[in-house]
Amino acid sequence: MLRDFTSAELEAYLDEALPIERMTAVEEALRQDAALQERLAAINGRRDAGVHSVGEIWRRHRLSCPSREQLGSFLLGVLPADVADYVNFHLQSIQCRYCAANLEDLRAQQTADAGIVSQRRRRYFQSSVGSLRREGDSPV
Ligand SMILES: [Zn+2]
Repeated sequence: MLRDFTSAELEAYLDEALPIERMTAVEEALRQDAALQERLAAINGRRDAGVHSVGEIWRRHRLSCPSREQLGSFLLGVLPADVADYVNFHLQSIQCRYCAANLEDLRAQQTADAGIVSQRRRRYFQSSVGSLRREGDSPV
């Protein structure tokens, strides 16, 4: 249901960082939903008190887009869980096109790299088999 908003989304709404149709959905829901108004007010209050979620800190510091290195680590599955969560949120909820394109590019690159590594491995394996054979051939 479109009217279920996560706290992260409400924070993004306050930052005007949601996709336009999501911004509109929050605005419409706010008109009729007192509980939602309270949640938004609570988030606002928490901000004023200086308590920030990770996602909010990223956005506030203009770090809303993860770096290329982070996206690369994200693809490899080696990011700390909270950062990976943020990247997920950034891609799924914010739907950042810039990062999605970046991620696609990195994915293509990693696939190409993986090809090179396995080629190298094969070559290494063949050359060590070759040298073992030579040693075996030489009379003792
Ligand atoms: Zn981004």
